Amino acid sequence: MIPAFQVPWEPARWKTLLREAVRTTEQLLAHLELPACSADVDPTFPVRVPAPYLSRMRPGDAADPLLLQVLPQMLENDAMPGYVTDALDEGNALRVPGLLQKYNGRCLLITTPACAVHCRYCFRRHFPYEEHGPANHERALSLIAADPSLEEVILSGGDPLIADDGALGRLLERLDAVPHVRRIRIHTRLPVVIPERVTSALVQALGTLQAKAVMVVHVNHANELDAATQRAFACLAGAGTTLLNQAVLLHGVNDNVDALANLSEGLFEQGVLPYYLHMPDRVTGTHHFDVPQPMAAALMRQLHARLPGYLVPQLVREIPGDQGKRPIYWATEGAEAL
Ligand SMILES: *Cc1c(COP(=O)(O)O)cnc(C)c1O
Ligand code: SF4
Repeated sequence: MIPAFQVPWEPARWKTLLREAVRTTEQLLAHLELPACSADVDPTFPVRVPAPYLSRMRPGDAADPLLLQVLPQMLENDAMPGYVTDALDEGNALRVPGLLQKYNGRCLLITTPACAVHCRYCFRRHFPYEEHGPANHERALSLIAADPSLEEVILSGGDPLIADDGALGRLLERLDAVPHVRRIRIHTRLPVVIPERVTSALVQALGTLQAKAVMVVHVNHANELDAATQRAFACLAGAGTTLLNQAVLLHGVNDNVDALANLSEGLFEQGVLPYYLHMPDRVTGTHHFDVPQPMAAALMRQLHARLPGYLVPQLVREIPGDQGKRPIYWATEGAEAL
């Protein structure tokens, strides 16, 4: 039986919101009644902020934790030793164009190159998407079907939910038809930055999968959550989708224990469990977000002292060549130096 899923918004509303997203620093600052300032923005990674996300920022607050995630800074243009464009060595993890495999049993399909929001700390901001676009999906699908060790397929990007419901539905069906694919996971920021993206067609497509559907959303601060995200998550959960969150530990955004505790609690209230807290990757143009590892470890100890275990995410860093994200041990004072 297919349950009826009620979403409270028009099916095409998200496309309008996406098309009308703010695309310049001037527009962004003017919206928030902040003085204009100019940063030379990397033209390949311009400003992009959809209205629902913008509406959660505090006007007049130049240090707003959502604004800081999307506002280009002059610091992006500084060359820093140790910061590179492919910090994760993803070029070496390609099985076929568009399909990355680093870890046992799970592969990651670059579903679409575009995103609904441009996060200034993004580790894939320099990814050569043109070489790995949807044109390569056939080869990737054949490889997945031929390799029974691949029990989980992760749709990533970019943001896979940028694809429209027709294209995404066909891709999900193809993956679901592969008997050894037991889990289909979607890594996306869209239900947060444009909750209207959670259409009844999407919910229906997820709800009818044989494979278990997992959605990993990406929220860095409790202020990103509101009544609309709550509704979007409720619809997804109603379709049997497991909802997890990954956040990035970002200087100025969430590098204090109150912000991290509020984030975990806010997520849980909306039916999402914290999964990972990532140390930022050392990617060119993102060094101003760095949090030193000893400080990250100290924050984790404070968080652990404050919250139930299921609300404490795993602090991880991605190290090229590892067999999974590397946990950063924080339990004892001094351990972070190991
Ligand atoms: C992060 C990542 C995964 C998922 O790792 P989990 O620990 O299972 O969340 C899978 N493939 C690639 C290439 C990744 O970067
Ligand atoms: S949504 Fe994800 S992939 Fe897209 S810019 Fe933000 S962090 Fe990067």
